[in-house]
Amino acid sequence: MPETASPQQISEEAFRAQALEFLQANAKPRIEEKTGWGEGSDRVGLLAEKSAQEEAEEVATAKAWRQKTFDAGFGWITGPTEYGGRGLTSAYERVWSSVEAGFDVPSGSPFGIGLGMVAPTILAHATPEVKEAYLRRLWRGEMIACQLFSEPVAGSDLAGLQTRAERDGDEWIVNGQKVWTSGAQYSDIGEIICRTDPNLPKHKGLTGFVVDMHAPGVEVRPLRQMTGGASFNEVFFTDVRIPDSHRLGDVNQGWTVALTTLMNERASIGGGGGGSGSIGSARLTELLRHLGRDHDPIARQRLADIYINSKVSAYTSMRAMAKIKAGQLPGPEMSIAKLALTNNLQRISGLVSLVLGTRLLADTGEWGTYAWAELVLGIPGMRVAGGTDEIMRNIVGERVLGLPKEPGLSK
Ligand SMILES: Cc1cc2nc3c(=O)[nH]c(=O)nc-3n(C[C@H](O)[C@H](O)[C@H](O)COP(=O)(O)OP(=O)(O)OC[C@H]3O[C@@H](n4cnc5c(N)ncnc54)[C@H](O)[C@@H]3O)c2cc1C
Repeated sequence: MPETASPQQISEEAFRAQALEFLQANAKPRIEEKTGWGEGSDRVGLLAEKSAQEEAEEVATAKAWRQKTFDAGFGWITGPTEYGGRGLTSAYERVWSSVEAGFDVPSGSPFGIGLGMVAPTILAHATPEVKEAYLRRLWRGEMIACQLFSEPVAGSDLAGLQTRAERDGDEWIVNGQKVWTSGAQYSDIGEIICRTDPNLPKHKGLTGFVVDMHAPGVEVRPLRQMTGGASFNEVFFTDVRIPDSHRLGDVNQGWTVALTTLMNERASIGGGGGGSGSIGSARLTELLRHLGRDHDPIARQRLADIYINSKVSAYTSMRAMAKIKAGQLPGPEMSIAKLALTNNLQRISGLVSLVLGTRLLADTGEWGTYAWAELVLGIPGMRVAGGTDEIMRNIVGERVLGLPKEPGLSK
């Protein structure tokens, strides 16, 4: 990190100049994606569908870029200096993002879960030893982390999870199964929530840990999605040993740890971190025009609806993000932001299905038609990941509108 890293030593303007200089030296300016019919790539997906080789290349490129930006002082701008961060305020983070947006830099998606959800949880709940061991390496892109929460019978009802961790001296022995673990195939560590006391009420008998994904007894099996890719996995744990120093928070206080991660997850998805904020209405307008549906009142109405709601969704996310950036805990705004986004994705899915019809089902080779299938098939996953639409509605109903709680149900 350069000497100018100290918060006292750099103004926002000097930081902007430094960021620009670094990006000009290391990346090419971004060329505006063309939206005219037949121009540029026609890919419109949500979950990346890649071969194993493409994925390995993407991870290697992302790691190399992250190391370069970290070493130049732009990798963890708001992080505490003791763990490798630059100790600057989020205003500097915004400056970096706005300057970086003008350049064509490698995708950071392999780090989405690790840096968006796991690293903040480590910072909030881990022992100094674990913070020391992992935070810098995660932010420098030397390691990737995954989120090991969901199980075959514990998704929305996460507190019902059954993977056991039993204490054995200074270690814990873990047995059980997780599922839908995104990126487990290239992760080095995972944040796992286990049941440590089956005799306590379900929310009270859980504990969080950082587990080494390369430890003996960890087995990762890919799951194929209906979109064709295999970006998530089943992960089996058989007598996996975790040192007690790798515990997150107190024994049986894992629910609080899980909530820290889930709030950051909703923020990340609602804010577009799930790769979901990028479907512009310009592309949809071109589609309608090409299909001769731009004068169809129903299609026009639905397009206008999508445009208005994309603004509503973006502003809701910005409101939620502003709260986080002001140092406040993410709250139900995250659920509203996520719901606003997925509702609009559903509208997009409806409109393209209406105008494309069978062209969405069979590839005629025509530019910009069948390509929408990947998006349409990916949207249900977005409505489930990070808390389903129904669960988000329950949260909004109970915590924002003050409606009565569901009898006997938990999330
Ligand atoms: C793309 C993607 C990536 C993911 N990545 C990860 C990951 O990296 N790590 C991880 O741990 N998990 C991950 N998940 C799992 C995700 O968190 C769960 O799928 C989600 O929490 C829902 O759980 P479930 O699939 O068990 O569905 P269930 O909880 O069984 O829900 C089934 C249906 O019942 C409804 N329902 C359930 N409870 C209620 C209720 N109380 N009120 C009203 N309706 C209800 C739901 O809305 C849903 O429609 C991922 C999922 C997806 C789709």
